[in-house]
Amino acid sequence: MKFDQKVLVNKPKSYQPKKNEDEKIMAKDAKEIKTKKTAKSEEKLWWVDSKGKRIDGRGLNDLRNIKIQAGVLPNADGSCYLEWGQNKVLVSVNGPREVLPKHQANPYKAIVRYTYRMAAFSVTERKNPRPGRRETEISKVSGEALEKAIFLERFPNTAIDIFVEVLDANAGTRIACLTAAAVAVADAGIPMRDMVSGITVGRADGKWIVDLNKHEEDAPDAVDMAVAFLPNTKDVTLLQMDGEITPEDFAALMKTAAENVEKVYELQKKALKESFENKKPEMVPGMEDFMNSTPHAEHEEHGERVSLKAKDPLSFDASDYDANENTELEENPDAEHEAFDGGKE
Ligand code: ADP
Repeated sequence: MKFDQKVLVNKPKSYQPKKNEDEKIMAKDAKEIKTKKTAKSEEKLWWVDSKGKRIDGRGLNDLRNIKIQAGVLPNADGSCYLEWGQNKVLVSVNGPREVLPKHQANPYKAIVRYTYRMAAFSVTERKNPRPGRRETEISKVSGEALEKAIFLERFPNTAIDIFVEVLDANAGTRIACLTAAAVAVADAGIPMRDMVSGITVGRADGKWIVDLNKHEEDAPDAVDMAVAFLPNTKDVTLLQMDGEITPEDFAALMKTAAENVEKVYELQKKALKESFENKKPEMVPGMEDFMNSTPHAEHEEHGERVSLKAKDPLSFDASDYDANENTELEENPDAEHEAFDGGKE
């Protein structure tokens, strides 16, 4: 207290920094910030090098590594875990099941409820766990994209619930999620007219590229286009774009997307095949009924009674069949006499 008083009384002016000192400090700070900024932007100033290699070593049309695993959640009707570069997503499908609240039910077809969420730990800064506008929008468009592929009219008054969690994110999560969700729907045994396969295409630093990462999405001239197709018909079920391009460039980008989405489709099919091969019959929807309902027959082989059990359709082995076997129907010489006798004896 004494000390304070002394200072205040004896050296009042020392508490008022001189104007030019203030300016000096501000100038020093500004210089430091500028140096830091320059160093940072110099680190990131390139996106594609002179040899056409991107910052993560990929070529212009290379996708990041994709790993898809179906049937990972025993409590779900269908599920899928997908890694797309750094992106990691988990999907659970439940349904078709009773719609609650009931007023949402559609008497003509099943409704699809797609919920996209990003975990609070999925990005470097903590993400607010409360769903934001972005998540609501992605949920809506992704659900609609899947609806096109599902035979909804076969399940009136029911709901197909799709829950998608992004565990780790590095751009392109909506497409990673939609691709995984389509696999999970198929894994649930829900009849589909086609898969839904997605891809992102766009531009960074003046170069047209496939499957943009976060650094590329943040390029000053970035174009970021998320597209999802029904891969067999190439019908577009989702299309969203950031950036500005000419109609010609847009057409070229769509062509690139359609060509490269084939790689994603192949991986989806592979994942589903692997999952079904590893499934026990009781885990395949409808398989248990099929196995129980098929009567066991018997026949005689080398004088012994042999029981014939229904063959598990998933155990198809091409080597069981003779490729050269003639399977054409032989012409029946009596066919004319048998045909159309008006049902009379
Ligand atoms: P997409 O993931 O489909 O590319 P966006 O273009 O909206 O969707 O987002 C690009 C990336 O930005 C995300 O993949 C994620 O890495 C990051 N991101 C999105 N939302 C947030 C957020 N709330 N906080 C931090 N990073 C985010």
